[in-house]
Amino acid sequence: MRHVPQQNLRVATRGTTRAINRRIALNLIRTNQPISRADLARLMGTRRGAVSLLVGQLIDTGEVYEGATGEAKRGRKPTFLYIDSRKRCVVAVDIRTTRTFVMVTDLVGHQLASVTSFPTERDPGKFVAGLVKRVKAILVEHKDLGRCQGVGVVVPGMVDADAGKVLRAPNLGWRDLNLREPLAAGLGLPVQIENSGKACALAELWATRGAQAHSNFVYLTVSDGLGVGVVLGGELVRGQHNIAGEFGHVPLNVDGPRCGCGATGCWEAYVSNVATISRYFGRDLRDGPKPAALSALTVDDLVARARGGDGKALAALLATARYLGLGLGSVVNAIDPAHVYIGGEITAAWDLIEATVRAALSERALTPPAGATPITVVPAETYPRLRGAAALIAAPSFAKGVVA
Ligand SMILES: [Zn+2]
Repeated sequence: MRHVPQQNLRVATRGTTRAINRRIALNLIRTNQPISRADLARLMGTRRGAVSLLVGQLIDTGEVYEGATGEAKRGRKPTFLYIDSRKRCVVAVDIRTTRTFVMVTDLVGHQLASVTSFPTERDPGKFVAGLVKRVKAILVEHKDLGRCQGVGVVVPGMVDADAGKVLRAPNLGWRDLNLREPLAAGLGLPVQIENSGKACALAELWATRGAQAHSNFVYLTVSDGLGVGVVLGGELVRGQHNIAGEFGHVPLNVDGPRCGCGATGCWEAYVSNVATISRYFGRDLRDGPKPAALSALTVDDLVARARGGDGKALAALLATARYLGLGLGSVVNAIDPAHVYIGGEITAAWDLIEATVRAALSERALTPPAGATPITVVPAETYPRLRGAAALIAAPSFAKGVVA
């Protein structure tokens, strides 16, 4: 093992050192697979014997398996190591204000079965009971997908992920709600919860770990609300009270429309799906966007109408695009990210709205290079929020703690 300063030994128990080495090994196998024990030892900067012991334990627990035999110029041919994602699955849950979506994935976040959805029950007790019933039914239906490793849940609101609590989900009216415990008790499975924007950012971080450009980025998810995840220096920013990155509730105009959080003129109140649709119906947004309008028409419908020549639909999308870019200007000025990701239904119209978003961004950004910050659109068909939810279960054993 590499030399560890004496003072660190006092705080790191044998158990934590082992856990850290295990995570480092799993992460290196995941990013370099197939990989031999000798190469793993070299990458970990440790003795071959110590790595063999560690790999033996990972094979015993079923996290790693040995695959094909490789070629060696001389001596014994090495067998390659792989992460074992077979016969294990994860349930991903995306709670939105109007509907809740559920997807089953493998351990690396690939979709294994079709996505199901149902209306989101506002009463927390009824919501938990309903979700437990549905997840159990899905797991019975998909027994062939293997043992479920846990359930990852993303929430449209502020979350204390360590405590498993929803601190505040304005559009659902949930406050200080312990969501993890009753779900875990009902399902008999590990459950992790996270804010939707932060979960998307974590999934992106996990997928691109090691890429230099992706250690400073912002992830926006535009749906019933506006979720934002901020990653700086390769770490998700949570802040002191788990509300860091809530740009959705930074005002664009204090005299603006009423937001679900109770304040007026929040960025979210200008760019959420319900705001876009309300705009299409010519409703004065100062009255507050009305969820009833959402049930009649979706943003996907609106995009289809815009493509079909409906000028009012295109105008509603372009107005949202302008507000999206103006708010993004504030985010860029505050965070100065290397990259911005945008997910959500409105990205289906990216070819129609991109120029407007970029013009508004460069209008507000403080320098021309900041105004040209690269933006990548994450298509809704790839279910970024559900992949974020899956990563809550699949990623921690690989991705947490960059110690090496
Ligand atoms: Zn607000």
